[in-house]
Amino acid sequence: MAETHFAPFQPPSRILLGPGPSGVSARVLSALAAPTIGHLDPQFLKLMDETQQMLRAVFRTGNRLTLAVSGTGSAGMEACVVNLIEPGDRMLVCVNGVFGGRMADVAARAGAVVRKLERPFGEVFSAAEIEAAIAEFKPKVTGIVHAETSTGALQPVPEISRVVHAGGSMLLLDCVTSLAGLPVEIDEWEVDAAYSGTQKCLSCPPGLSPVTFSDRAVAAMDARKTKVASWYLDMSMVRNYWSQQSRAYHHTAPINMNYGLHAALCEVLEEVLPKRFARHLRNHLALRAGVEALGLEYAVAEACRLPVLNAVKIPAGVNDQAVRAQLLGEYGIEIGAGLGPMAGKTWRVGLMGVSSSPTNVLVFLAALESCLN
Ligand code: PLP
Repeated sequence: MAETHFAPFQPPSRILLGPGPSGVSARVLSALAAPTIGHLDPQFLKLMDETQQMLRAVFRTGNRLTLAVSGTGSAGMEACVVNLIEPGDRMLVCVNGVFGGRMADVAARAGAVVRKLERPFGEVFSAAEIEAAIAEFKPKVTGIVHAETSTGALQPVPEISRVVHAGGSMLLLDCVTSLAGLPVEIDEWEVDAAYSGTQKCLSCPPGLSPVTFSDRAVAAMDARKTKVASWYLDMSMVRNYWSQQSRAYHHTAPINMNYGLHAALCEVLEEVLPKRFARHLRNHLALRAGVEALGLEYAVAEACRLPVLNAVKIPAGVNDQAVRAQLLGEYGIEIGAGLGPMAGKTWRVGLMGVSSSPTNVLVFLAALESCLN
């Protein structure tokens, strides 16, 4: 007989400085452990209303269709794509890292005619090259990643949004790693659809994906001739559950995850967004000073460097895996490996949400120095 009795799982103590998940506060963890109630309980519906209001505040939008998709960031990505795209629609996807590549894959699976506009990992796109691609390809939707977690590059958005709309396309923005860590201005930038994840700068465990859709995106969804390819992510049904008027059952909401997100959003808004962004920037600059003092270099040009994800070049002769294993084993510090062409060449050091603190910066630098000597 196979073993069926196991000790309760006791996670080790970790300092999460990888590309996500980030650390989670005691307040959010205790919210997750509150008693489960029904997904149509009036008190749970009140929590959903408040969550929706707080998500609008964090996304900086008045979009009515703003909610938390059940699932991680990739579910939000898929929700945006499958609701905006019908088979045969054209979608331009800007690929300069793993997550742009994933968006292109999702779009192709949704039946889109996909064109990839590519840049080497670590670089960002100019508005001019996107404008030219849109003029030629005439996509219904243009997708781009704001904060490429796989490379540590930050994509400027406002000018791109202008050329996307001038070309008659809708803008889909991946805000998984940027939301609540650096400015995201959905209304000001006229973003048509955006998605995020809970486990990065929102500092909540993974499991929900905040999404928001502009009125233009909702009108396009309402004008669809075909059903959304995914039943689970079909916003025409999911939005009824999130609407005060209807509350029609669609799927059982992950109740306790929503408690956690509610608590995390309270923390984000209590800190006040500009102060939160300033904290993330301050800790990034402190880390940078320390990393450079150790003689290491960043993999991304300063002009487009993400404050919440530091891609640092691994010095010649240093064993990538051995250092990461030592950081985890001896110091309980998790950092990320490089991805794609950056694998083995960079480390990814995340300073997201509650993980972005002066103490973590100092502890990490001291631990890294000892691993390198
Ligand atoms: N997009 C970006 C920029 C990400 O960093 C991630 C995850 O790291 C995703 C999408 C996918 O999110 P998830 O892993 O939560 O499904």
